[in-house]
Amino acid sequence: MNEHTNLFGDRQALPDPRPIGRETLRDRHARRLVAGRHPLTNLPLCRIEGATCGTCQHRFRRGGGARRYNKCALMRNTGGPGTDLRLTWPGCMRWTAEVSS
Ligand code: SF4
Repeated sequence: MNEHTNLFGDRQALPDPRPIGRETLRDRHARRLVAGRHPLTNLPLCRIEGATCGTCQHRFRRGGGARRYNKCALMRNTGGPGTDLRLTWPGCMRWTAEVSS
């Protein structure tokens, strides 16, 4: 275990470093957004003003109440957080305007 001496002279254990090669979901989303790609689909962003997953026809909700999650109908979805959408994400190149009823 790695240790260090803090400002008060006490020895403290350092947290284990993240294993090399493991990327968190949040890191993956951020990396893709910086590269101009959609965090979930990894497709290029559509660059239309106001186009977000929240305004896309392909977005749907799964579950109910507090356990309601947004998903993309064009993807193979799991029940896990790896396929959850954020409504504020910029739309991908498959973005299609939501049809109002
Ligand atoms: S198709 Fe629509 S809902 Fe699915 S990821 Fe692209 S913009 Fe988001």
